[in-house]
Amino acid sequence: MKYLFDSDFTKTCFRDLVNVASPVGYYVQMEPFFAALAKDLGYEVSYDNKRTPYITLEGQDNSKTVQVTAHLDTLGFLIRGIDSKGWLMVRQLGGVNYNTLDGETVTVYTRDGRSYTGLFLCREHSVHVHKEEARAARTEENMRILLDEPISSAEDVKKLGIRNGDVIDVQPRCQFTDSGYIKSRYIDDKACVACVLTALKYLKEQGLKPRFRTLFSFPYSEEIGTGGTYVPPEVSEIIALDIGLIGPGLEGSDRKVSICAKDATIHYDYALNNRLIRLAEANDIDYAVDVYNSYGTDAKAAVQAGNNLRAATFGMGTYGTHGMERTHMDAINGTTALLLAYLLEE
Ligand SMILES: [Zn+2]
Repeated sequence: MKYLFDSDFTKTCFRDLVNVASPVGYYVQMEPFFAALAKDLGYEVSYDNKRTPYITLEGQDNSKTVQVTAHLDTLGFLIRGIDSKGWLMVRQLGGVNYNTLDGETVTVYTRDGRSYTGLFLCREHSVHVHKEEARAARTEENMRILLDEPISSAEDVKKLGIRNGDVIDVQPRCQFTDSGYIKSRYIDDKACVACVLTALKYLKEQGLKPRFRTLFSFPYSEEIGTGGTYVPPEVSEIIALDIGLIGPGLEGSDRKVSICAKDATIHYDYALNNRLIRLAEANDIDYAVDVYNSYGTDAKAAVQAGNNLRAATFGMGTYGTHGMERTHMDAINGTTALLLAYLLEE
């Protein structure tokens, strides 16, 4: 690979990021963590009014400003009610796959700073007790959280300081294999955040400036479609780093970088995608171009919000999206390499 960036850093950075809870709109824990991480790399962070962090790099040419974005939010839940037994009813934040949540450990964060663990279960939770019903659909209506506390009523739950609207985070269960695979929740999109930070580390260490002034943004609400809606007015081009999909008809894989031609809504900029394809080929980056169905990014959000810019999206091919996800370091490293090529080359 042409750019000898620190891919061991990418791994540890991903592992660290994925273990900081940041469900949609919950920046309380990630904000100081991310600022410290950026500072270690030699960068200052600024914020917009939505608490989106930005790292800004002056370019070789400052007459044009581009934006690279990777979202810090993950799928998550809010408490929407407490039933008479003291089990928590949830409201999803983003397009979760409940089938992958049965039996997961979660953490509930109260507004006064306390936290409690619990177990995600279906109301009909035991094959021994609920023989037929144990096969009930895993849906928002049927799923509950059983707190790891001695509770038998809603009152018991409230005494712990737990209220409707409190945030629930599902454990990521991040694992690396010797064969280079990563299995974890929230590869979407913390693997892409780790790629961006790896590229920033490389630029700092090599003393390199991107071709154009570049804003790197890390929003907290992509999973509900609003992370990219605000774009600073000087930005004329936006690249969202986000996961690639794998499935029938698609050429993407967990060893390749996926360049998205079209998502559920927008046709990504034709010339910009041509440039990404050319850069992937020039840098021997294994890539696929694909058309997606149920998919969107913060670049799409930026276009849909009416910003005057052109947009593209690429990222590592990922299995099991919005559940337990899997990708490979080849796809992650390819994503970092394509980002560096985008930033540095014609
Ligand atoms: Zn994403």
